[in-house]
Amino acid sequence: MSGGLDSAVCAAAAVAEGHEVIGLCFDWMQPARREERQAATAQAERLNIRLHTMRSYVHADKSMHAAPGESGPRVVPGRNLVFLALAANFGAERDVAEIRIGCTAADAADYRDCRADFIEALSALSPVPISAPLVALHRDEVRRTAVALGVDLSEVWSCYAPRERGVPCGACNSCLQ
Ligand SMILES: [Zn+2]
Repeated sequence: MSGGLDSAVCAAAAVAEGHEVIGLCFDWMQPARREERQAATAQAERLNIRLHTMRSYVHADKSMHAAPGESGPRVVPGRNLVFLALAANFGAERDVAEIRIGCTAADAADYRDCRADFIEALSALSPVPISAPLVALHRDEVRRTAVALGVDLSEVWSCYAPRERGVPCGACNSCLQ
């Protein structure tokens, strides 16, 4: 759970289906880590699920170098691959039945590791099956699903690089979506 809309919807849908859910929140020293964790915590509390923070390091010197307020995607190569590998290890140790990631159709163009074929291929190799239930949904469909599931949109944080603490930049890809 990144605090963003997609993972919030993914978690809310799993809870609505009656699953016992553990949210994973990654702290990889990203610029928005505080805001993301705060939003994810609020979402997890609302869903009454446990949130587990995982510290990891992802090399992102090149991809995240854009300044706050600068446009464009922040494509960190293999970021979700790293996160899913860590989630697979965590899940296998805890006899988790499935790992779910909130990739959507909006991610497919820029993020290789958000595409359906990538998730399927990785799932086949993982000790715990991986699925991306929102992978075919476009932005408006994700929003509609969010509303239907009672996700509080005021609790969502999406910006990659806040201008200052708690203030979205308004220009990065995530803000513009
Ligand atoms: Zn932004």
